[in-house]
Amino acid sequence: MAGEFDLIERYFAHLSPVRDDLRLGIGDDAALVSVPPGHDLAIAVDTMVAGVHFPVDTDPQAIGHKALAVNLSDLAAMGAEPTWALLALTLPEADEAWLAAFAAGFGRLARESGIALIGGDTTQGPLTITVTVHGRVPAGQALTRAGAQPGDAIYVSGGLGAAAAALALREADVARDALQACRQRLDYPEPRLALGRALRGLASAAIDISDGLLADLGHLCRAGGVGAGIDVDAVPRHPALAQLVARDDAAWYDWPLAGGDDYELCFTAPAAAQSRVEAVAESTGIPLTRFGEITPGEGLVCRHADGSAFRPGAGGYQHFVRQS
Ligand code: ADP
Ligand code: MG
Repeated sequence: MAGEFDLIERYFAHLSPVRDDLRLGIGDDAALVSVPPGHDLAIAVDTMVAGVHFPVDTDPQAIGHKALAVNLSDLAAMGAEPTWALLALTLPEADEAWLAAFAAGFGRLARESGIALIGGDTTQGPLTITVTVHGRVPAGQALTRAGAQPGDAIYVSGGLGAAAAALALREADVARDALQACRQRLDYPEPRLALGRALRGLASAAIDISDGLLADLGHLCRAGGVGAGIDVDAVPRHPALAQLVARDDAAWYDWPLAGGDDYELCFTAPAAAQSRVEAVAESTGIPLTRFGEITPGEGLVCRHADGSAFRPGAGGYQHFVRQS
């Protein structure tokens, strides 16, 4: 697109931290990096399309943050340490104010997480952002979706449902501070990188929650050839939810169980390792809540705290739940 080189130079060439494992960054035909000996590379890519993955009127700074954050969340779920990123940007026009804000959001998270932007592509078309990330993990130590064993405890980090609440209540006139807190979670998800690294050698399986807890736990179970029994009342809610929805409202369950965009980590660990999980919560400062157990067989069985069967609302996620 017109002025492509100027735009790249101005907004992206000096955006992110210098790393000594980067031989050659933005400006040549390809970047050159050195993979440290004894490490595996974890590589992931995610595309965000305006109007599909974020509302068209989203603050461009939030778009820049989130485009990188959702990818870093995948590295977190693998227990990897972020190293290098590539950014493919399709823009309807070269709007400099938009680009400056986008670059500020992207750059800030890149510096915080130590990932270097080493290249990309810039084209004209409907607003679409594709980010590829690389991370390193000591050879053989990556966390994967497969590996959960019957009897393992199931945990989730943080509190769920805030992003879904922000989307559902976008137009609503409700508790403003609580809604603002949810909107912050939707726009500025915090990838759980330190947690993912701390879970190496402890978690038997892990996944990040992008599509909703039940959907993503379902992926983890299928990858391991196991099932799960979960207590839907023990699933931790984001603190703002209590101000936005009554506990007998279907949304009290729908948002944390089926709402996407939380970017927390769901993982399993042997029941005997509970004190080690508690130590990780302590050292990372991230609450880790046990809400279920891996079972033999397949499917998710959802119960209330009193043992009664959970019947999902009209949230379109009935098919995740096996009635038994
Ligand atoms: P080529 O034609 O060889 O693909 P480009 O003109 O697309 O090269 O890009 C020139 C340089 O700028 C390359 O190093 C590329 O990686 C980098 N680059 C292009 N777009 C971006 C972007 N949006 N963010 C970061 N780097 C970019
Ligand atoms: Mg190119």
